[in-house]
Amino acid sequence: MFRETITSADGSTATGTATEAHARALLRTAVRRGYRVEATRTGGVIIERDVWDGSRIPKKRTVALEPVTPLGNITPTIRGDLDVIAARDAYLVTGAEGTFMGRNGRIAAGLHGIPPAAAKRLIGRGLVVLGEPYEATSNGYMPETRTPVRVSLAARLALHAQAHRTRTSEPLGYVRPADVGMGGITAGLNKGGRRGGLIYDGSSAASCTCREWTGTFEQRMFALDAARRHRQAATANFARTL
Ligand SMILES: [Zn+2]
Repeated sequence: MFRETITSADGSTATGTATEAHARALLRTAVRRGYRVEATRTGGVIIERDVWDGSRIPKKRTVALEPVTPLGNITPTIRGDLDVIAARDAYLVTGAEGTFMGRNGRIAAGLHGIPPAAAKRLIGRGLVVLGEPYEATSNGYMPETRTPVRVSLAARLALHAQAHRTRTSEPLGYVRPADVGMGGITAGLNKGGRRGGLIYDGSSAASCTCREWTGTFEQRMFALDAARRHRQAATANFARTL
């Protein structure tokens, strides 16, 4: 379940809740319509679109979705468990009997098993969601109940956002010409930034932890904008896979 906050172009806000299915539909529609979308590391997403009301600069309407239950810190162990669940038909075991009682509370995923304590934590924190339980048998003869488990949309959004952490470098500022490349010198001269033989290097390098995006920009503001656009493009691609 997500908490939904809608901020209209006039600045007024409205809040409500959205089911995972609703959130997924909202996100897909937003991407189809070309709205800006960005996943948050806390498992939410921000959907933003321009509203033209006749003024020169468009106003914005945003829909922010955040999980009602905080996902908490996603440690490497939890990430590993989520990978196992995502890759296989995983299910939670309850009602196992006799020699199979040890299966109770575990999440089974192929040859992998997630112990009860870890399974409980994944469920309690909304990192996974449960489907409809069905009756099955342990090793073909003892009855047990299996409940399908899959990685929640919130967890997927958080993992996605964590895979795309961007950074932009602090501009060097006033430096000796020998300390910067030719590009920096040209930029400095164009801006008339000479000061006592020093030139101003306002350029900023940007990169993303996905290692698929880098860039150098004349001003840090441009680097920050470009980094945001990269994250939004990545989230849009992710949303198309939902
Ligand atoms: Zn990236």
